[in-house]
Amino acid sequence: MFALAVALVGVSCSGPMNPVTGRMDRGTMSEQEELSFGARAHEELLQEHARLANPGLQQYVSGVGSRLAKHTHRPELTWTFTVLDSPDINAFATTGGYVYITRGLMAYLNSEAELAGVLGHEMGHITARHVARQQRDQQIGGLLQAIGVLGGAYLGGERGAELGAQLAGGGTQAGWLLPRSREHELEADRLGMDYLSRSAFNPRAMIQVIDVLKLQETYASDRARALGRPMQRMPGWLATHPSNEERLAQLHGRAYAGAPPDDAGRDRYLRAIDGMTFGDSREQGVARGQNFFHEPLGFTLRKPVAWQFRNSPQQLVAVSPDQQAAVVLALVPGMQGDHGRIIREVLKADSGRPERITLNGLPATYFLGARQGREIEATIVTLRNSDFVLAPLAQSREAQTRYRSEALFVLNSFRAMTAEDVRAARPRILRTVAMPKSGQFRDLPVATDLEDVETQLRVLNQAYPAGAIAPGRLVKTVQ
Ligand SMILES: [Zn+2]
Repeated sequence: MFALAVALVGVSCSGPMNPVTGRMDRGTMSEQEELSFGARAHEELLQEHARLANPGLQQYVSGVGSRLAKHTHRPELTWTFTVLDSPDINAFATTGGYVYITRGLMAYLNSEAELAGVLGHEMGHITARHVARQQRDQQIGGLLQAIGVLGGAYLGGERGAELGAQLAGGGTQAGWLLPRSREHELEADRLGMDYLSRSAFNPRAMIQVIDVLKLQETYASDRARALGRPMQRMPGWLATHPSNEERLAQLHGRAYAGAPPDDAGRDRYLRAIDGMTFGDSREQGVARGQNFFHEPLGFTLRKPVAWQFRNSPQQLVAVSPDQQAAVVLALVPGMQGDHGRIIREVLKADSGRPERITLNGLPATYFLGARQGREIEATIVTLRNSDFVLAPLAQSREAQTRYRSEALFVLNSFRAMTAEDVRAARPRILRTVAMPKSGQFRDLPVATDLEDVETQLRVLNQAYPAGAIAPGRLVKTVQ
């Protein structure tokens, strides 16, 4: 124990060794700080972003990650791999061995080797200590905040003001805002490719992963053009600084000795993700057209056509197209229908007038008041022993007036779900099936209400805009 303590002191004085460069990283997070930061970030992340409730799939991903871990520059780390229950296409790492991938990204991968490519890239960020090296100067809390980017804002709390800032900056869709640099991304790609090769995966899977990302870009821009909409900024993995072309050019230039293994684990992977939720999940709530359904909590909310829903575990936000106005819906736990207490303790109002009302048959309170001179307007409603706060927010008095009728439309739409709503809210799942004899994507069994379905199936199976999968081969469909 004593020797260990001495070693740790020594490490924190000189800066830890970088396992990839073999040199000391002066003035950066020590290894001990890296581990404890990673563990804290993990706790916080899982409070704000749900772990996918699919033990079989979690185990499968951990298995693939562990196979790689032995061959990284830091085999001694306790590596933790987590699949997040998010439809976003993303993967990221913090420090100390914590790696995350969303089911949204997993839906678009087509083999175990590609999954290994994503994990290997993220593991490269950890072994090369990218976050640890960047974060020493910043407060650790700052990084936690960046990780929690969307989840942070909740009504009435210290961070309530962030919502305004987020709406103003339009940054709420940005996904995981971990600091990224071009060099770090390219280095993580190289390391990922090396780890694939050392773990007896074909290193070219790293190239295929970038191709999957490129295809997302192509599809999104084709679709935006077809609908006459501006191209949206791509979130997460798609928004990394180096272009996919630059990433590909670098990887194509790398040579590996010996014949690459020919088993990419395509069928194993497709069987592992069979039954995985696709798009919105029951647990997080499902958006269908103008409606949002949250079956576990039993409510539904409706938005104007042009508005958007943004959903996070803490809150649901309906936001106007220019992001000048929004309605926030948040669950307030532990208040047992005591609306007066919510006004005092959650809204922290210091003046105002509550009025008992009924909202679509539910007991509710309309409140108009103020906190330290700032106006607060909210409707508190109780459904199935849960209390919700609905609050209209606007960037300016002008926007508040301009969007008044839309905001009221959203506010007044909150109601209990019916049996019919439950049917409409059924989440979609990925199914792995054999390609039919015709070899046509349109002959696959699909969820009938999926828009642009044949194209979406092509994108999912990396056969867009053209490409074929032979009859009898496994293929993904959406049901
Ligand atoms: Zn990266």
